Amino acid sequence: METATKSKRVADGNILDRLFRPMGVEGVYARTREYEEVADVLQQLISRHRPDDAEVFRFPPVMSLRQLETQGYLNSFPQLLGCVCALHGTETDVSAAVDRARRGADWTSETTSADLVLSPAACYPIYPIAAEKGPVPARGLTFDVAADCFRHEPSKDLDRLQSFRMREYVRIGAPAQIATFREQWMQRAQSIAEALQLPYRFDRASDPFFGRVGQLMAANQIEQALKFELLIPVRAEGGPTACMSFNYHRDHFGKTWGLTDESGETAHSGCVAFGIDRLALALFATHGLIVGAWPRAVLQVLRLD
Ligand code: 5GP
Ligand code: ZN
Repeated sequence: METATKSKRVADGNILDRLFRPMGVEGVYARTREYEEVADVLQQLISRHRPDDAEVFRFPPVMSLRQLETQGYLNSFPQLLGCVCALHGTETDVSAAVDRARRGADWTSETTSADLVLSPAACYPIYPIAAEKGPVPARGLTFDVAADCFRHEPSKDLDRLQSFRMREYVRIGAPAQIATFREQWMQRAQSIAEALQLPYRFDRASDPFFGRVGQLMAANQIEQALKFELLIPVRAEGGPTACMSFNYHRDHFGKTWGLTDESGETAHSGCVAFGIDRLALALFATHGLIVGAWPRAVLQVLRLD
């Protein structure tokens, strides 16, 4: 259902100039106060929909390299990963690298892995934490997580940042519990988009799996309806942008981290991901650059009235 006309949408350049400041790299921006206030109230709106039993965690922008390797990320999305490297070794080693920098040479070649990666999704660190809790109870587990995420991708467009914020609700349990969770969240997402007067549609989707084998994985994901996205027009030109995703991982994380129920059955998992920056952009693109001039009902929903 699309409720706003394209002609009303704010031009990308205007959004960029008004709400962001460049930081010397495409897809990485300083955010103004006006924009941040909208991002904050969106987070609060999502919090008001938090399931009662959800356990809350906020993650740093980095996570363990080993944990990401263990869950097979390098087989699926190696092209998106950003690793943290640092100067290790003795004072002499570090000084040698600094000297290279002083000579204008590439000093980064002297760095080695700090055993950290920039988190590519907010939910990845939760599965090993959930596994530490012991067997998954019959009622399943629910988490509210968030992180600043990084994906190394071309970021010429406003809606594809290299560094962006992701909020997620994660469900771990029996397949039927995950299915119910996902259906409920697709309903709730629809009512959130409607309350915010954002034009939207749902679509089956796939993740950007790497290479030729990846194309098969993506086709499989679409065929089995493992991922849905809620798309909203954000850019003035081109198609709508995925602002929320609804994912069913089957037993992938359960198997990886040994998540089982009391009887030893492997747990399944699913998540609903909210792209906070894309949702904020969608609001500005749809309703205009002056927040005070947005429809009153939208301001009320966001408690900005
Ligand atoms: P997914 O894991 O489904 O690719 O991403 C989850 C959510 O994060 C997406 O629905 C989207 O809202 C947000 N997201 C994914 N990639 C980007 C990106 O490149 N830029 C921004 N701003 N948000 C993104
Ligand atoms: Zn997730």
